[in-house]
Amino acid sequence: MDWRSHAVNQCAQLHPYIPGKPVEQLLREKGLSEAIKLASNENPYGPSPSAIAAIRNFAAEVHRYPDGDSGELKAALAARHGVNSNQILLGNGSNEVLELIIRTFAGAGDEVIYSARGFIVYALAARAAGATGIAVPEQDGLTHDLPGMLDAISPRSKIVCIANPNNPTGSLLKHAELQAFFDALPRRMIILLDEAYHDYVRAETGESIGVLQHPGLMICRTFSKAYGLAGLRIGYAIADAGILSLCNRFREPFNVNLLAQQAALAALNDADWVAEKVGESRQQRQRLQDFLAELNLLGAASHGNFVLLRHAQATEIAQQLENHGIIPRPLAAYGMPDWLRISVGTADENTQFISAIQKIMNELLEA
Ligand SMILES: *Cc1c(COP(=O)(O)O)cnc(C)c1O
Repeated sequence: MDWRSHAVNQCAQLHPYIPGKPVEQLLREKGLSEAIKLASNENPYGPSPSAIAAIRNFAAEVHRYPDGDSGELKAALAARHGVNSNQILLGNGSNEVLELIIRTFAGAGDEVIYSARGFIVYALAARAAGATGIAVPEQDGLTHDLPGMLDAISPRSKIVCIANPNNPTGSLLKHAELQAFFDALPRRMIILLDEAYHDYVRAETGESIGVLQHPGLMICRTFSKAYGLAGLRIGYAIADAGILSLCNRFREPFNVNLLAQQAALAALNDADWVAEKVGESRQQRQRLQDFLAELNLLGAASHGNFVLLRHAQATEIAQQLENHGIIPRPLAAYGMPDWLRISVGTADENTQFISAIQKIMNELLEA
């Protein structure tokens, strides 16, 4: 078999992740001079000033390899979360951490269980690992069906993945529900609890690290959302040290770059900035949801830094938004063709989104 047919065989089952459209692409396509990206749930306020300063300070050091163990950052995270440094696994985005976990604990013949409308990376990583993905439909189309996920477990099931809050549906499970689910799971299983949006709900749920319990529990966090470092790619998992020592065997030696380590450390220490921006995003989320509800466009209440628009002509609305220089995220890939996910932007960006939607809906009514 030559390399081409080998690659074709390897990739036949892999569908590429489709990211939100980059601003530059929309500008080219529409001949616009400005556009707003509300497609990827980034922090719209930019990185914390101390993270920017750290990047500047360490720019002259990038001829050196980074600390392959991310020791300083691990120590800071360990102190923050009340765990040991060997209970932390850092990755090139939490995406790499999710992949490392799935690759370490599931292979051919094993099953990975997730929600049908869960974060799509779990399905992609399971397939890439040669494992069988089991997608469990949501009870109400939005919320993880925990009893259904328990029913789906077989002796071959190795990992169950849950995002809380979930992306793209915005649903949130209470800690009591999650703990009851964990108690019913076999002790031998790995639980991948993806808390990318934890900062946006901690006021309601409280802390999960050190509270939720299961021997195989792996809690994943990211610096891409509330911490404003999506472009640097850095995230982490907190779990039992023995579990992580296995994942570390699959990890490449310098997977987290030097600027990412230093910026994350600075951002972590700028807690006031994070709290302030999370507070603003939560207010703006309420504003957007109130607006969508008024126009009968609110698909569901979201607990992430995004809102959910639902309308039979969602595809048309998405195209019109792009004509107005606003990039939404259509959810057709999740079997939700009537839905758009809109990231919460700055107050200004949201004002522009609101006025664009008002125009678009008026035109749709007149047509
Ligand atoms: C955005 C997001 C992540 C974060 O991915 P990174 O690779 O850390 O940028 C992880 N999980 C979910 C559910 C997300 O929405």
